[in-house]
Amino acid sequence: MDAIDKLSTLFTRFPGIGPRQAHRFVHFLLRSSPTLRRELAGAIAELAANVKQCPTCQKFHDGGKAECALCTNTHRDPSLLMIVANDSDIAAVESSGTFSGYYFVLGTTLSLSSDKQQDLRESRLNQTVTKHAAGGLTEIILALPANPEGDATADHIRSVLTPFADKNNITITMLGRGLSTGSELEYADPDTIKNAYKNRG
Ligand SMILES: [Zn+2]
Repeated sequence: MDAIDKLSTLFTRFPGIGPRQAHRFVHFLLRSSPTLRRELAGAIAELAANVKQCPTCQKFHDGGKAECALCTNTHRDPSLLMIVANDSDIAAVESSGTFSGYYFVLGTTLSLSSDKQQDLRESRLNQTVTKHAAGGLTEIILALPANPEGDATADHIRSVLTPFADKNNITITMLGRGLSTGSELEYADPDTIKNAYKNRG
């Protein structure tokens, strides 16, 4: 396999990228300046060297400690834990300025079209919920996409957490459907997130 085919094949492994787009990326890079290619290669190497996953919330970060800046922030509200699908959902919720608790990132949602089991980091989730319960957790908010996959994931996570939540007097709520159907948190504007949070139940 030559260098062009090799890179094209790698690009086809990206979400939503087919062979034609992958070739366009490679040809864009061939036409680009050597500086851009060097920067890109360097940024990918840096990602591998410096970015780690927070053991508590599972978010990727490049802070100095094992835990991320959110999990180590003692000024946040320990009674609230929000469960989101992706790291980018945290950024969206944070920019709405409406939530001051802690997070957990599932990393994906359940797929309804494939039989492949999705790893929702359930054992990590159980550890994190147990840890927060010891710190005064009273409410877990499911903040998953307003689409069939998000609903299936919310149902599943609710069934996983309910026995522990019941035993520890923790309420499980969901964001209100101020989010329009099909919308994902990461693309929602701050006011929509604020309303969805206010109307949770
Ligand atoms: Zn964290």
